[in-house]
Amino acid sequence: MSVGRAVVTGGAGFLGSHLCERLLDSGWEVLALDNFLTGGPVNVQHLLGQDGFRLLRADITDYVHVAGPVDAVLHFASPASPIDYLQLPIATMKVGSIGTLHALGLAKEKGARFLLASTSETYGDPQVHPQPETYWGNVNPVGPRGVYDEAKRFAEALTMAYRRAHGVDTAIVRIFNTFGPRMRPNDGRAIPTFVRQALHGEPLTVAGDGSQTRSICYVDDLVEGILALLRSDLPGPVNIGNPHEISVLDLAKWIRDLSGSKSSITFVPRPQDDPEIRQPDITQAQRLLGWSPQVPIEEALKQTIAWFREHPDITEIAGEPLAEDLVNHP
Ligand code: NAD
Repeated sequence: MSVGRAVVTGGAGFLGSHLCERLLDSGWEVLALDNFLTGGPVNVQHLLGQDGFRLLRADITDYVHVAGPVDAVLHFASPASPIDYLQLPIATMKVGSIGTLHALGLAKEKGARFLLASTSETYGDPQVHPQPETYWGNVNPVGPRGVYDEAKRFAEALTMAYRRAHGVDTAIVRIFNTFGPRMRPNDGRAIPTFVRQALHGEPLTVAGDGSQTRSICYVDDLVEGILALLRSDLPGPVNIGNPHEISVLDLAKWIRDLSGSKSSITFVPRPQDDPEIRQPDITQAQRLLGWSPQVPIEEALKQTIAWFREHPDITEIAGEPLAEDLVNHP
């Protein structure tokens, strides 16, 4: 007996694929919509034969029609790594604006709960630390990263407009840096980059002097938090992330040690508007959702390194030739 039917946009991406897996495990039917821009069928290949799962190639910025009932729409489609959104600035703004409009329209039409994957980047380079949901952020709208940050801020505002004007049952999760298996080794985010470099014996490239901090959350913890928010009737925004804060330099050294690598560390220029500090205040998630991260970071890093070791052939997923036969058409 199915719990309900969920549509996951960006379902073939890193987070989307883990989310689809966990939803299926909890008894949901899942329709994943993805245009394979920065993700690909390979991420959900293991789900394709499973009852209740369908993957459909669709661009959410185009008109999207889904036949039949839908109980939840989880809008995860968006380039998410700085390399991706700097290369795809207009696609990023379109999926955050027009894509969110279409995903909200689908939720409205079906009377479904809508959950927006927002981001800690809405806080920009924060002047409040750690960041509570009540902080409005410090974002540079005209800097290169503005395409992502402002698209997500617009998506949050649009979500609230649909809630207020159309009575759609909405939720916003602000996701902090999350890592785990199925990240692309060349997506430019710190953890997959350091793991790839360490496993290849290449120098680990630390931006600036590496004193800037990040708070990193394992994907399994994040997905549990998202499911808790989905099951609740909270509108959010709710921060989901791991407050475990670490400097980028210490993170590089930790990954090098856990990989058993002898790589050196080199320093490269900091990207423009790279945040200095980042740490979630998760009081709301703890109090209202009973959620807090459970997986120790060392254990999570070990699992991630092991996955990268076992998948040496995964170099780039985005842009891979489309395996149409992998896609279950409706
Ligand atoms: P990802 O790039 O692996 O996944 C995004 C997916 O969306 C990809 O499969 C891509 O092909 C798809 N997509 C992009 N544009 C689309 C479109 N127009 N129509 C349909 N599909 C489209 O990135 P991710 O890390 O899994 O991030 C997923 C979501 O979570 C994003 O919305 C991102 O902003 C948010 N998020 C992620 C993190 C993180 O640490 N990973 C942090 C904060 C927020």
